[in-house]
Amino acid sequence: MTNTGLILYDLLKGTHVRKTMRFLRDSQDWSLEELERLQAEKLERLLEGVRAEVPFFRSPVTGYRLPDNRTIERFDDCPILDRQIAMEAGDSLLSDNINLKKCKVSRTGGTTGPPLRLYRDTETRSWALAAYYRFYEWMGIEPGMPEVELWGSTTVQNSKSVIPSEAEGQNFPRTSSLVPRASIQNIKSESINRINRFRNFNAFSFNDANLAEVAVKLQKFRPALIRGYLSAILLLADYIKRNNIKGINPIAVSSTSETLFPEYRKKIEEIFQAPLFNQYGCGECNSIAFECKEHNGMHISMEHCILESDENNNLIVTNLDNYSQPFIRYKNGDIGQIDTSPCACGNPAPRLIKLQGRASENIILKDGSSVNGIFFANLLDQEGFINSDKMLRFQVVQDKEGEIEFKAEIKSGSGYRMTDTGCRIPGAGNGELKNVDLKKLKDCLLPFFTKVEITQHAFLDPGPGGKFRYIVSNLS
Ligand SMILES: [Zn+2]
Repeated sequence: MTNTGLILYDLLKGTHVRKTMRFLRDSQDWSLEELERLQAEKLERLLEGVRAEVPFFRSPVTGYRLPDNRTIERFDDCPILDRQIAMEAGDSLLSDNINLKKCKVSRTGGTTGPPLRLYRDTETRSWALAAYYRFYEWMGIEPGMPEVELWGSTTVQNSKSVIPSEAEGQNFPRTSSLVPRASIQNIKSESINRINRFRNFNAFSFNDANLAEVAVKLQKFRPALIRGYLSAILLLADYIKRNNIKGINPIAVSSTSETLFPEYRKKIEEIFQAPLFNQYGCGECNSIAFECKEHNGMHISMEHCILESDENNNLIVTNLDNYSQPFIRYKNGDIGQIDTSPCACGNPAPRLIKLQGRASENIILKDGSSVNGIFFANLLDQEGFINSDKMLRFQVVQDKEGEIEFKAEIKSGSGYRMTDTGCRIPGAGNGELKNVDLKKLKDCLLPFFTKVEITQHAFLDPGPGGKFRYIVSNLS
């Protein structure tokens, strides 16, 4: 975003992103002790406010009384919240003093559970956005450099741009959200995007026909930053490689929302010849952690949140800036670990490592053990299916323990034909895995399961909200 864009944003939204950015530029040079002191102060203030103003936390019925101590040392005593509890709590989780005019209301997506209504006030949005733009500086992206967003969403708001539901995972702030979504305003939205040298493309409907169009636009626009859903970036990267397209040379690529398998990072970095930076957040707390130039985990935004990981590696987040709908010790359903060892970049904030996405995204093998998408990515990589011309993406579906359906997305190309509406579908007998590859695939999966069904697809649809899931577990 340009400086003008940020000034405009602060003015229109009543936020203080620029001021907070100045603060964060300083605080990233603080010592760990100084950062912890800030966390403790902010937590103390938050708990005090919450005890006085939020019915849920003071009701004897809920049992969620916060301990009377106000120090971070005994923070462990605070009960754990999760999505189910938060949903049942409903409006009692809102502050008595909530100013709805200053809140951005959204829902978490329904892909991994029933939706939850979220209220993000100007304070939390200011901190989250400022932390996000500090991350731009880490990536070497300066204000005003052209950027492109590849989003995947079924929530089409207008013909020109797609504003995804404020759903799962980290949501990139988008300039189009500066204006209301009425049709006349789309023109304004487009103009602001142009001022900000920002474009977005709906990756949900990516196929070879519109990828060709996207590629031409990118060659002309020359984005310094390409960001968006990992699977969307992957589709574009794959298209660029297959068609030997030149002239798309970003300084950095940034992915979010989906588990980043190392094999995919390698592929994207090779094709774009640019480093990939991962980042992490959730609807209940945006901007939780960002990757630095060392690429060995994501530094926790300690100025904005507290991130814990329990003995089962469940992540627990506390948003230190949302007083309107406080999420304190909130188990968001993601799995990851926290590394406190020093990072060569000099940032003392601990790093989030081994982020494995949702706890629910696990598959049970025939011996009863549980694995996640990384297991399959490694297996497929060993057998030469990833980074090859054979398969683009995969999805493992489990309805019964020890059994899976393995859905393979087979690369498009000459073996495919395009429909009149631009959808690619496999031609008869073409665009399928060779028998030898099919056997290889089955042989590598079968040792772990009692039954493996392999199906081949021209395109695997992302779920609601556009977030692609590598693992779909229908086990109760
Ligand atoms: Zn670092």
